[in-house]
Amino acid sequence: MTPGTVVALSGGIGGARLALGLYRVLPPGVLTVVCNPGDDFDHLGLRICPDADTVLYTLAGLANPEAGWGRAGETWTFMKVLAGLGGETWFQLGDGDLALHVERTRRLTGGEPLSRIAADIARRLGVCARVVPACDAAVRTVVRTPGGRMAFQHYFVRDRCEPVVTGFEFEGAEEARPCRAVLEALADDSLRCVVVCPSNPFISIDPILAVPGMMAAIRAAGAPVIGVSPIIGGAAVKGPTAKMMRELGLEVSNRAIERHYQKWIDAWIIDSTDAADAARFSRPVRIAPTLMRTKADKDALARAVLEFADELRARTGPAADNGA
Ligand code: GDP
Repeated sequence: MTPGTVVALSGGIGGARLALGLYRVLPPGVLTVVCNPGDDFDHLGLRICPDADTVLYTLAGLANPEAGWGRAGETWTFMKVLAGLGGETWFQLGDGDLALHVERTRRLTGGEPLSRIAADIARRLGVCARVVPACDAAVRTVVRTPGGRMAFQHYFVRDRCEPVVTGFEFEGAEEARPCRAVLEALADDSLRCVVVCPSNPFISIDPILAVPGMMAAIRAAGAPVIGVSPIIGGAAVKGPTAKMMRELGLEVSNRAIERHYQKWIDAWIIDSTDAADAARFSRPVRIAPTLMRTKADKDALARAVLEFADELRARTGPAADNGA
C-alpha cells in the first residue's frame, strides 16, 4: 500500500468502527482521528468527551463492544453510591471511565489544552494514532425541538432521542479554531486522504465542520475526501440518524447523505446492498460491504477506502467517471 498519512473525521460508534479498521491496516503513527466536540459536556463537575473517548477506548482495545460506549469489564460502584446519595444518575459513568474524566478535568483546570491532554492520554493507553478533538474550545451541539432548545446529552441520553428535531446549533463554534494537531495533520505533505467516517452527519460530523477554518484546511489539503455512508438499505445501523432525517423532511437515502454535504466530499463508499443508488450520485461512488460487525469487516472497509483514495489520486482531473 502507498505510504502516507490519513485523517479521519469521526463521531462515536460508527466513526470508531472505521477508525479501528484504518488503525489496524495502516502503519503505526500515520492516522489522525479528528473527534466530534459537540457531544462534550460538563457533568458532576467533570468534562466528559463521549465521542473522543469512544474512539480512544476502541483504538486502545478497551471499549465495551456491546454498549458502543465506555470500557469493557467496568465496575459501577460510583454510580451505585451516587444513586444512594440521591445524585444525578441519568448519565452512566463506570469506575474506570470516571478516572479518565477526573484526570482530564484536573488537567483542564490546570490550564492545559484539551488536545494536548487527549494526545497524552492516548499515548499512555498505547494508542499509536493521534486522537484529537476538532478544537480546544468548547463547541456544544444544541438540539432544536418544537418544545424548545435542548442540551445535546439531555436530548440524546436522558430523553433517548425521543423529541422531534427541527434543527441544530453549535454553540461556541464561532470562537473556536481547529486545534494545532488537526491543522498539522491536514497540512502534511504525505496526506493520502481525508476520510469522513460513517457517522451521524448532523450531530457528529457537522459540529467538526462548524469550526471556522476546518473546511478551508480540508480543502487546502488537496487530498481526496472520501465519505462512507452511514445509511444502509434506507436505515441507520444504530442511533437516530434516520429518525432525524425523517423529522427534517429528508429522504432516508445515500443520495440525501451526499446532498447534505453539498459536494465537498469528493467520492463516496456505499454498501453493496445499495448498489443501485450509485447512479443517483453526482460524485464517484465505490460499492463495498460497509456493515462493520467484525474486525475483518472493519479492516476490509478501511482497505477499500484507502484503495479508492489511491485510485482517485491517480486519476487526472476532477471529471472522474462514476466508478460503481
Ligand atoms: P455516535 O456519536 O455514537 O452517534 O456515533 P456516530 O455518529 O459515529 O455513528 C452513528 C452512525 O453510524 C449511524 O448513522 C449509523 O448508521 C452509523 N453506523 C454505525 N455502525 C455502522 C456500520 O457498521 N456501517 C455503516 N455504514 N454505518 C454504521
